[in-house]
Amino acid sequence: SVKQKDMVESEEQNGDLTNLDPSVKVVVRIRPINGQEKEVDRTVTKVSSDSLSVGGRKFTFDSVLDANSSQENVFQLIGVPLVKNALAGYNTSVLSYGQTGSGKTYTMWGPPSAMVEDPSPASHQGIVPRIFQMLFSEIQREQENSDGRQTNYQCRCSFLEIYNEQIGDLLDPTQRNLEIKDDPKNGLYVENLTEEYVSSYEDVTQVLIKGLSSRKVGATTVNSKSSRSHIVFTFFIESWCKGASSKCFSSSKTSRISLIDLAGLDRNKLEDVGRQHLQEGKNVKKSLSQLGYLVNTLAKETQPEKPEDVPYGGSCLTRILRESLGGNAKLTVMCNISADNSRNTSEILSTLRFGQRVKAVRNEPVINEI
Ligand code: ADP
Repeated sequence: SVKQKDMVESEEQNGDLTNLDPSVKVVVRIRPINGQEKEVDRTVTKVSSDSLSVGGRKFTFDSVLDANSSQENVFQLIGVPLVKNALAGYNTSVLSYGQTGSGKTYTMWGPPSAMVEDPSPASHQGIVPRIFQMLFSEIQREQENSDGRQTNYQCRCSFLEIYNEQIGDLLDPTQRNLEIKDDPKNGLYVENLTEEYVSSYEDVTQVLIKGLSSRKVGATTVNSKSSRSHIVFTFFIESWCKGASSKCFSSSKTSRISLIDLAGLDRNKLEDVGRQHLQEGKNVKKSLSQLGYLVNTLAKETQPEKPEDVPYGGSCLTRILRESLGGNAKLTVMCNISADNSRNTSEILSTLRFGQRVKAVRNEPVINEI
């Protein structure tokens, strides 16, 4: 309609891409080859800014980042629109998916030392710390340019881990086996999960470092720090606006940022790991296959008639993802793959197929005004 066209044009002029941003975006990042891998084995090639080929097979996504991409490139592509959307009142989610050793941890968090060091575009800092750096500087800017109105913000966060089909509190490791509850008014929540109030970037980094250091990692032959759990960092923003300005028409907004880092998708050499790790591996595999099943269902043209027939109940992970997948959220899926194809072809193809199916999921994000 004319009105919609005007809206889009005025947003383009303002540089605000909120409404032009797809509700489900899929980005693939190819990790650089490391010391043990051989250049000759490389059969994953970036073809254009949104496509790549694997052994001659071409795949298209929203964006493809190759081994030369920097952490700042990833942040510009994923983090900047996410912060704008979150402050506009949308729920936003990032889901990182890929084989162990494909660069999920590096892309999301970066090395712990980079999280506290002064961030520069060249630093190794991952997208999560960059997101909160930007978020708090936007909040500060908004509060300084008040022109008659006053926006107040209250932010809090939680950090959980799904390990062996149990939900644990990464901010209070004594809390294990927490339950997911469904509140008719406020939706899904995890009972007794710690929530920390934060009012600066430094507060968030402390929470992140504390939570990440409690994450379960196990020794496998693929990667000695391979992650054996799914982790979800949730950040809640509540804002309310007081003041006489006509600009201040909306009174209160609430949104949440969900940052989900999945355990590695591995063709585990199960005989190489101990009994405990065997169980962990089985649980990771099971929950990732439930996730695949959920995405397959949501990607179909026709959805089950009854909402309760959408298979969210398969695992803790799928239950927790209800809002991010097929619900009220703008979702970015980050598919990480390694460039070395000779040993990892099946994992690379499986990651790319997941990315293609999830692109067909329809989310319905709305601005959450109260
Ligand atoms: P995952 O979390 O998927 O298991 P990691 O993030 O731990 O994988 O990455 C495996 C190794 O590769 C780490 O040593 C990491 O620092 C390195 N790495 C991953 N991606 C990149 C990248 N884009 N640039 C430089 N090093 C990277």
